Amino acid sequence: ISSKLPAVGTTIFTVMTKMAADFNATNLGQGFPDFDPDPKLTDLVTQAMKTGHNQYPYMPGDQLLRSNIAKKVKTLYGHQYDENTEITVTSGATEALMAAILAVVNAGDEVIVLEPSYDSYVPAIRLAGGTPVFVPLVAPGDEQSSYSVDWDRVGEAITPKTRLMILNFPHNPTGITLGASDLDALETIVADTKVLLIADEVYEHIVFDEKPFLSLSSRPALAARTFHISSFGKTYHTTGWKIGYCCAPVEMTAELRKVHQFMVFTVSSPMQVALGIYSEDPSTYLTLPAFYQEKHDFLYEGLKQTRFKPIRSQGTFFLLADYSEISQENELAFAKWLTQEKKVTLIPVSAFYRNPDDVESNHNLVRFCFAKKQGTLEQALSVLKHL
Ligand code: PMP
Ligand code: GLN
Repeated sequence: ISSKLPAVGTTIFTVMTKMAADFNATNLGQGFPDFDPDPKLTDLVTQAMKTGHNQYPYMPGDQLLRSNIAKKVKTLYGHQYDENTEITVTSGATEALMAAILAVVNAGDEVIVLEPSYDSYVPAIRLAGGTPVFVPLVAPGDEQSSYSVDWDRVGEAITPKTRLMILNFPHNPTGITLGASDLDALETIVADTKVLLIADEVYEHIVFDEKPFLSLSSRPALAARTFHISSFGKTYHTTGWKIGYCCAPVEMTAELRKVHQFMVFTVSSPMQVALGIYSEDPSTYLTLPAFYQEKHDFLYEGLKQTRFKPIRSQGTFFLLADYSEISQENELAFAKWLTQEKKVTLIPVSAFYRNPDDVESNHNLVRFCFAKKQGTLEQALSVLKHL
């Protein structure tokens, strides 16, 4: 049959995780923790199931959960979303992204996407009939040690057809975050336009070096045009539960819910009830920076003892490292070789570019996931130091 998504194959995360299993490799590729969530949280799920939370929940999501999301966003970022009309619980951030994009992108609309970027945006744009317009991040080089956003280029990409811009900070795969001057630039760029924004902030609670996270919702002018999306998968070590949410102004939420109610209608009841109770206590997410900083620093320092050149991450549970002293192969070939021959699995950064095989998409960089037990990180480092 003719394909609506001819360019889409199996995602790099699935490919590399399968390879890791086939070759019995230590998997620092796909982004998921190899440890369990807090038993208090899993006990709450059992409790919810035993106390009758087993039928369809309310379409926009559990009341207490939405109320706690509203409180958290207000406390951390200063923006008050109405829990009844502006917050929707979704099946992971993935569904929120798809629903938001399908809700507002019309055939022929342009959507600005930074490159490299997470893999679900472009297929969603194409299903909506939109055209992705790519703006490259500036890659690390002699001038700078990590990726950065060139806001002039972002501004130049806006045309009368631009409907939406997708921003993801802390950024997967590069681990960069935005500073106040970045938000200033963004505010200026969109000020006289009707461009809507998606803020994919699934890693909002995983930020390093004691810097606060600057959400797009911390700026009223941006919040007024933003779908603010996050995920409990990253925050509570529950990527398999697929519970996320979207906060957006009332008219935008109304359109998102039209898609949400016919895509999934609503999401798992006992998980929502458990997350509602658990998220009452802000320490459940405020402890995350310290928890992940330790893992980040352990992997970063460990990689410095190898021939990889690691780049410090500002947020997410990923860090990038340059392998050019070890190999001159392209990133995918290097990642496959490392899995097969050395039994450590990483993700080629080129997979986050639209043309992964092109020279311009290959910077001798691989992505490490450090959401892993100490022993897993040690096991990987014990191999990598001999390369
Ligand atoms: N956005 C980004 C940037 C991600 O890294 C991920 C998860 N890997 C998602 C969205 C999807 O989140 P979820 O698993 O909650 O659907
Ligand atoms: N977001 C995760 C990552 O970047 C993977 C999610 C997925 O496998 N779809 O590794």
